[in-house]
Amino acid sequence: MFHEELMYIKGQETESSSGRWIQVENPSKKGTYAGRVPRADKEDVDRSVRAAYEAFNGWEKVQPKDRGAILLKIAGEVEKRAEEIARTIASENGNAIRTQSRGEVKNAVERFRYYGGLGAEMKGMTYPGPDNMFFYSRREPLGVVAAIIPWNAPVQLAVAKMAPVLLTGNTLVLKVASDAPLAALHTAKIAARMLPPGVLNVISGPGEECGEALLSHPLIRKISLTGSTEVGKKALHYAADRVLNSTLELGGKNPQIVFPDCDFEKTVQGVIPAARLARQGQSCSSGSRVYVHKSIFDKFVSRLCQEVSKLKVGNACDEINDMGAISSSVQYNKIIGIMKQAMAEPDTRLICGGLPPEEGPLAEGYFLLPTVFTARNNDSILAKMEVFGPILVCIPWEDENEVIDLANDTDYGLAAFLWSRDVAKAIKTAQEINAGWIVINGGGGQVQGQPYGGMKESGLGREHSLEGMLESYTELKAVSINLDY
Ligand code: NAD
Repeated sequence: MFHEELMYIKGQETESSSGRWIQVENPSKKGTYAGRVPRADKEDVDRSVRAAYEAFNGWEKVQPKDRGAILLKIAGEVEKRAEEIARTIASENGNAIRTQSRGEVKNAVERFRYYGGLGAEMKGMTYPGPDNMFFYSRREPLGVVAAIIPWNAPVQLAVAKMAPVLLTGNTLVLKVASDAPLAALHTAKIAARMLPPGVLNVISGPGEECGEALLSHPLIRKISLTGSTEVGKKALHYAADRVLNSTLELGGKNPQIVFPDCDFEKTVQGVIPAARLARQGQSCSSGSRVYVHKSIFDKFVSRLCQEVSKLKVGNACDEINDMGAISSSVQYNKIIGIMKQAMAEPDTRLICGGLPPEEGPLAEGYFLLPTVFTARNNDSILAKMEVFGPILVCIPWEDENEVIDLANDTDYGLAAFLWSRDVAKAIKTAQEINAGWIVINGGGGQVQGQPYGGMKESGLGREHSLEGMLESYTELKAVSINLDY
């Protein structure tokens, strides 16, 4: 089905001022299109930021509990259309409907509900002082928030911006990604229609011409970007120019450490979801560097290959498939290029998967097989670069201090996965790993309210949590009162 999704500015659906469009290819079927969206430029950015600016005073005055009540209603509306939204995600970014897209929409609904209940938490404090004085603080919204999201989990990430931004009384311009704009635009419009005009504006357009116009607009008071570290650094330059508060959720190159005392079979089964293989590895938290103790290395790699080879790859909209397609030809060619470079390395070996078939059903889309390499150490490109594909590299280790150094030997610091029956040892190791989120003996999953975000070049600030919401989208105003006046 071909979807045409318009943008939404100041309470109205709208095309771009230039009348240009972005065609959205269905990556499960090369050359076919999931839909099209307007291609916004500077002029559209300006009208959306102005709409958000004008709506701010009114929205700020709505009581937090009443803003929360609207988020709860939005959750119900999104839930009613969950299947349609999940199908749209599968058709635009290639994430398999059964294993990924349905779960993404469910998570988005839960996220609206989580923030919908947090209105009362927008509270300040009182401070001790002399009896003739009264000191307090209050939390206030920042103003117009400019939010930019990637394509890999478009609805979940759109809601991660919309819900806390709106609950705290800010207004929003959300720019969705050109590779997967349809479901995020659709979901944001469900929300925007239930809000006063201008409170939530959603636009679609390329990074350079639309994203940069948004980041540099003089009326925005906050940048909230989820995307690559490279683009995050650009956003930070714009923030520096105007001393803007910024939240950056960026890339990752996440380690998994398999200790010799792990539960062997449960770990093999767990490393696969931790690597986000059923999402083609297209996740910032993909545990794509797997450090396996030397004593179990060969047996582990061989068993892992047996298991990953069972994943059924194919059309993302088809219920039988575990894994869908790489999101676009650009990503597909980038991943193949990295794989070829790895195959030319002297100490790197391809164990299973590899280059995609040139004929047959898998050649009809941007499909890659789940792939396992081994490497001697972190010198391999696969241990350094965020591949964002279904590719794992397994690296042997012997000494516990050495493996912590290997795990931390990266500019990123987003997530890490530790596998050991000795939970005390795993907790001590978790303390040594420089990452914002660590999972012990599990493949993934967070609860609503658990802070998420990166250390080092993986980002600034935290999302998905009460603390993250308050730090990212409010500022504290302190008031001192002389009672003897
Ligand atoms: P990207 O950085 O290329 O694009 C992200 C968004 O930024 C898109 O909307 C894009 O249009 C926009 N953009 C691109 N160039 C821009 C510019 N010059 N100015 C303003 N906006 C610009 O990333 P991507 O390929 O869409 O997504 C994958 C990346 O996102 C990976 O690095 C992944 O790790 C990261 N990611 C991080 C998280 C997290 O929570 N930390 C979550 C998901 C994805």
